[in-house]
Amino acid sequence: MIVWNELTAAAQAQALTRPSLSANADRALDVARYIAQIRADGDASARALTRRFDGVELGELKVSAAEFDACDAQLSAELKAAMHAAFARIKHFHTACAPQSVAVETAPGVLCERIVVGIDRVGLYVPAGSAPLPSTALMLGVPAMLAGCLEIVLCSPVDANGNVHPTVLYAAKLCGISQVFKLGGVQAIAAMAFGTISVPKCDKLFGPGNAWVTEAKLQVSLTPDGAAIDMPAGPSEVLVIADVGANSEIVAADLLSQAEHGPDSQVVLLSDSAALITQVSAALDRQLEVLGRVEIARASLQHCRLILVTDINQAIHVSNQYAPEHLILNVGNARQYLAQIRNAGSVFLGALTPESTGDYNAGTNHVLPTYGHARAYSGVSVQSFVKLITVQTLSAQGLNAIGPEAITFAHAEGLEAHALAVQKRLELIEATTNDAPSAAKSTVLALARAEFLTFKGYSSARMEASTGATFLNANESPWPPGPDAPDSMDAVALNRYPEPQPKALLQRLAKIYGVAEESLLIGRGSDELIDLLTRAFCRAGIDRVLIMPPTFGMYKVCANVQGADVIEVPLLAENNFAPDWAAARAALSNGVKLAYVCTPNNPTGGAVEPLELREFVIAAAGRAVVVVDEAYFEYSKAQSGFENKSAIQMLQEFDHVVILRTLSKAYGLAGARIGCVIAHPDVIKLLRTLMAPYPIASPVVSAALRGLSDLALVEERIACLIAERKRIATALENLNGVRKVWASVANFLTFEVADARAVYRSLANRGVVIRDVSHYPGLSQNLRVSVGTPLENTQFLNALTAALSASTVSSHS
Ligand code: PMP
Repeated sequence: MIVWNELTAAAQAQALTRPSLSANADRALDVARYIAQIRADGDASARALTRRFDGVELGELKVSAAEFDACDAQLSAELKAAMHAAFARIKHFHTACAPQSVAVETAPGVLCERIVVGIDRVGLYVPAGSAPLPSTALMLGVPAMLAGCLEIVLCSPVDANGNVHPTVLYAAKLCGISQVFKLGGVQAIAAMAFGTISVPKCDKLFGPGNAWVTEAKLQVSLTPDGAAIDMPAGPSEVLVIADVGANSEIVAADLLSQAEHGPDSQVVLLSDSAALITQVSAALDRQLEVLGRVEIARASLQHCRLILVTDINQAIHVSNQYAPEHLILNVGNARQYLAQIRNAGSVFLGALTPESTGDYNAGTNHVLPTYGHARAYSGVSVQSFVKLITVQTLSAQGLNAIGPEAITFAHAEGLEAHALAVQKRLELIEATTNDAPSAAKSTVLALARAEFLTFKGYSSARMEASTGATFLNANESPWPPGPDAPDSMDAVALNRYPEPQPKALLQRLAKIYGVAEESLLIGRGSDELIDLLTRAFCRAGIDRVLIMPPTFGMYKVCANVQGADVIEVPLLAENNFAPDWAAARAALSNGVKLAYVCTPNNPTGGAVEPLELREFVIAAAGRAVVVVDEAYFEYSKAQSGFENKSAIQMLQEFDHVVILRTLSKAYGLAGARIGCVIAHPDVIKLLRTLMAPYPIASPVVSAALRGLSDLALVEERIACLIAERKRIATALENLNGVRKVWASVANFLTFEVADARAVYRSLANRGVVIRDVSHYPGLSQNLRVSVGTPLENTQFLNALTAALSASTVSSHS
């Protein structure tokens, strides 16, 4: 037992030295020679070295599909289940820790981003010297898979029969790795670093190994055309801090679980209890004798240190000096010491946390910095397998803002070409601004997918020529369909393609919404337009969509179809489902390109405060387009404070607001499928280039114009519906069994009952179909009813009253 306070500073440092890595000049020379052989003769040398060191004659170096298939049958169901579960946990944790892309505007018009890109080709080394290590295959394979590397190569030494261990193959399969090579030691490292006919050359190598593997990794990492490596490596180690309350048998088992790794592994115990140290020492002797790997563990225990400290704070201090790969804190209230830990690869907190679960299946990685490298290095994670690439995009506004300062720097450093590269652009901006003083000030297109800015959409016959007497340009039939003579047909000529954007309807809608025709695009319902917006602004896997659930489902569906990540900022149920604006604003800096605000919101029925929405729009400037879905706007007009508060007003100030409107609700035209985008003309032009050529069918145009001909009637029906909404809400509030009615300014009401599914079914049995919205987050046991005609609403209320009283009766019986 070492008593820390009795040692001089020099003796303390000596007590923490690790077993010296036998710096072996011969080994370095040998390794260099073997690497040179592999570089010269590739596969042939790899085979020769394997014959020499492993005594095995290799055929194909690559594990065949048949060998992969065979591994299934060689493993017990229990082991496979344990590996599947470990795989899932490792994936769960590593996904959560994966680096994210970032986008921030450091000045107006200066967009700085960080994107995350997987390393193209990575090589994983899975040792098998004294035991096969399928856990290492998972610890390297899972983060490589999550990082999106283009090619993953795995090398593992073979057994005496020339086979890679089936557990390692099974782990590789779980991670989707199909390129496994039967190579170990220096051969494997050199083959992956430089490539051979069989083994692809890799950009970075990962994984633990013996002294030869470590030396080989070091050498290839120092060779310019070699490969990068994960981290410097040394023998594995554990440091346990235990107090008087710790169980000495458990402490001894933890120490031995590290000692059995290898003769040069080091285990250290720090305790403030001399009695515990004595007990642990005795337990070590006892447990050692029953271990299978007793000789290895016994050799390792030669470097074991059992150190008495004054208290746990001193133990932490000593541990920080040692910087262990694994640190077990087996002390009371272990978490309180976490903040003091400065150097460690991985920490195991509390009496019930063994290192073994970290090694195998808790979810953290077991490839960790050893030999004191925990002072500066971290363990393997998804970050180890990616590059973080920064991106900057300057608009004219941005260059005008920061260009002159860059010129000042360039002059100060005497780098005149640097200054010129800025100056020439500033001059160009000034010249073009003077040329076209009325050029639109739109910056919203900077948010669109850059490849679409010069994109030529499909040019349809109708777009190219819309006037003329004899149309022979669109391969249409010259005759209308059916037997009727042309003059008996409806005015709609069905044999002709329709106008891409029907002029009469465009004019009518522009007037209704109070916007210019250039700011309007008509599509097949807002559904189609949501899809179009997602495609125009979001690159798959890069740009994100912000939604505030519970909300309309199409936003997420379209994002998913496009491959854009969705960030969810839930509405606050405790605040009548108002948006969490602070969280939404914060989320904007995470690569969000489209942020949806549904107001009134489906399915909660509430509308946002216009001033709060405006603040959000300001926060989104230069980052994201704010899409305000006003599908139910017409029903909210009577709400005091909301008259003329459509987000359409904001278009005069901001070009990154996009409004969605539809004729499906208040105008009674759901069957015609007509929705509109109202936006800056540049956005409209962009969307038109991406849209299929004839979204609106001719009969639909006639039907819509008819439906829009009597706006007084539309208003009358809206007023009736609002009165009915009030009547139903009051009735629901007074109905026994209705627990909550959410305030709605839309044409539906959402309310909570005890058993939504049962009430839904009971209503359906009575012939009244409403919607079960229980699956939305925050809306469990909620139903949504659309406001119908007065007669339908009465039928609904009667059926609901009956359904609820029936369920009360049955629940009492
Ligand atoms: N937005 C919201 C909020 C909706 O609830 C709906 C449909 N229920 C739509 C858009 C889609 O409308 P459209 O019929 O115009 O596609």
